[in-house]
Amino acid sequence: MPVITRFAPSPTGRLHLGHVLAAQVAWELARGSAGGKFLLRQEDIDSPRVREEFYAEIEQDLEWLDLHWDGPVLRQSGRVAAYTEALASLRERGLVYPCFCTRRVIQDEWARMGAAPQGEQGPIYPGICRVLSAAEQKPMLESGAAHAWRLDSQKAACHTGRLSFHDARFGEIEVRPDLLGDVVLARKDIGTAYHLAVVVDDAFQAVTHVTRGEDLLEATHVHRTLQQLLGLPEPQYHHHRLVLDQAGKRLAKRNDAASITELRAAGYSASEVLALAKQAGHGHSLVGDLERSHRG
Ligand code: GLU
Repeated sequence: MPVITRFAPSPTGRLHLGHVLAAQVAWELARGSAGGKFLLRQEDIDSPRVREEFYAEIEQDLEWLDLHWDGPVLRQSGRVAAYTEALASLRERGLVYPCFCTRRVIQDEWARMGAAPQGEQGPIYPGICRVLSAAEQKPMLESGAAHAWRLDSQKAACHTGRLSFHDARFGEIEVRPDLLGDVVLARKDIGTAYHLAVVVDDAFQAVTHVTRGEDLLEATHVHRTLQQLLGLPEPQYHHHRLVLDQAGKRLAKRNDAASITELRAAGYSASEVLALAKQAGHGHSLVGDLERSHRG
């Protein structure tokens, strides 16, 4: 079966070396397979943070790097109806619940508990709205009170039974649906959220291999759970290493020194940029070197 991969950046900032590595891993996997496809998806649901100029910059950077994609670019902003439908299907089965909590209410609850319950990536939602009855929810929903929708991770676990996923680096991993707690599947402000959109679209685009940074390994527990609940196929995974900065931290959008625009302006060629990203993929922390050679 031909391999279908995707690169899924958010047009909320410039591409940096971490993105180049992600795009390169996906591109090489697809190009190594007869009839394989490398797709591009602009993950632009976070409308308050999206900036128009980044769509074109991302596409120009990929073209400059010779990482050409197949077919049209998918924009998540045009897919909201599909996310709403998926959410409705989870709602009908009582697998999600409305959450009216503000950040402040959650923090107060953590303080009341003495310590916030910890998930794999920090404190998790303490379940305040999970216990609301339908009779309590109804007037709040009818009054138009702002609310998010959260996955009921315990109920989800009962529905899915034992699940696992396969990762090219980490092997077979047993899914823990509650690893990140009751995650938000639809934000108050935008009506959807990353975990739901990514799962719906990977299936829509028939992605066979999801490649992305290892910082999203825990999120995959949520994604496999959602795939099972929504009757979507299971892709293979490859969580690659991250490109680290001098302090050993993951590159973020604020690391301008490593943005492709900057590297290009500093005279790096496309093949040098690809090679730098690849070195990072082999565990070499290179941004220090990069900045040193800049200064020199
Ligand atoms: N838009 C996400 C990011 O840039 C994509 C993550 C994924 O590949 O699932 O981190």
